[in-house]
Amino acid sequence: MLVKRNILLNPGPSTTTDSVKMAQIVPDICPRESEFVKLMGGLREELVKVVHGAVEEYTAVPFCGSGTINIDICLNSLLPEGKKVLVINNGAYSARAVEVCEYYGLPHINLTFPFDQLPDLEVVEKVLCENPDIALVYTTHNETGTGILNPIREIGELAHQHNAVFCVDTTSTYAMRPIDIEKDNIDFCMASAQKGLMAMTGLSFVVGRKAVIEASKNYPKRSYYCNLYMQYDFLERTGEMHFTPPVQTIYATIQALKEYWEEGEARKWARHTRVCEAIHKGLSKLGFRELIPRKWQSGLVVSAIYPDDPNWDFGKVHDYCYEKGFTIYPGKVSGTDTFRLCSLGAIDVEDIEEFFLVFEKALRVNRIQVPVIYQEEKRKY
Ligand SMILES: *Cc1c(COP(=O)(O)O)cnc(C)c1O
Repeated sequence: MLVKRNILLNPGPSTTTDSVKMAQIVPDICPRESEFVKLMGGLREELVKVVHGAVEEYTAVPFCGSGTINIDICLNSLLPEGKKVLVINNGAYSARAVEVCEYYGLPHINLTFPFDQLPDLEVVEKVLCENPDIALVYTTHNETGTGILNPIREIGELAHQHNAVFCVDTTSTYAMRPIDIEKDNIDFCMASAQKGLMAMTGLSFVVGRKAVIEASKNYPKRSYYCNLYMQYDFLERTGEMHFTPPVQTIYATIQALKEYWEEGEARKWARHTRVCEAIHKGLSKLGFRELIPRKWQSGLVVSAIYPDDPNWDFGKVHDYCYEKGFTIYPGKVSGTDTFRLCSLGAIDVEDIEEFFLVFEKALRVNRIQVPVIYQEEKRKY
């Protein structure tokens, strides 16, 4: 293969296999042809099966867009008239959901917790008890900005006890950490092809309960392009996406799913886990501190705190690594400067070991002290 292999340690898009890259090179086709419609049908079923959903009860509704389109769609489409959304918010992606509520003028409660703490379930329960008009509970599984993993099964149980629909942003766990949509008490989850599935950008999808989507037919229509029922209904009637799909990305996603089943859920998760262990090991060897206690981490995103070295310059370290084929990524928290190393994508332990050789060199050429230094009062995990 003539395409250079880059190791992406950013939180998506991810490193892909050559076979997934090549799957995009297909004869031109109009996506309204029955040949393509058949592919779409198979793809939708597989997307449900990744989270162990029964295809009679759950469906996958694809859209053309990046992952944020799913957040927009779920919130604007699944809230009945006169009801409220509860967003359980301990990070950048749930904060994005709150912004979506604000843009649409949706009645909502922004229940915030510190970015390095799990949500307090007693507080969540109290808010649900005090607000019987909450119809939609929303949170993020792996807060990609920090790598903290939220207790979705417990939150989902609380939502259901209070007759609310539970919607989770699983963009950075789907097809990586095993998810069981039913056992995890999820009504709706979401992802994009370029993250856990290790395919290309441009295809995002919501997986959720058919009965709820059908009920949402009569909910207020707040968006035209991003309405869940409209897209679902069109797909059910015609097998096609309502508007032009990302054709080449869909071919790549079908190949990526084939490779997903070949690797298998457990083996894939074991691979991400050992990649993440190699990241912890490499960071720790260089003296880096992590933002989130290990026991709360998703095992997919590691946030390292900037050292207190006058020569530390993330941009310069990034550029050195990038030149050598490794991409690292800044953090997404205010108040603490962090960078992230992620374990998604078609990579393994050898790639991380190679990365740390380059990364250590990047520190040394920039005259950053190794092991790195911190002022004492800084968090130490
Ligand atoms: C990547 C990601 C998204 C989508 O981001 P886009 O930039 O729109 O692709 C949404 N939620 C989470 C948790 C993510 O990790």
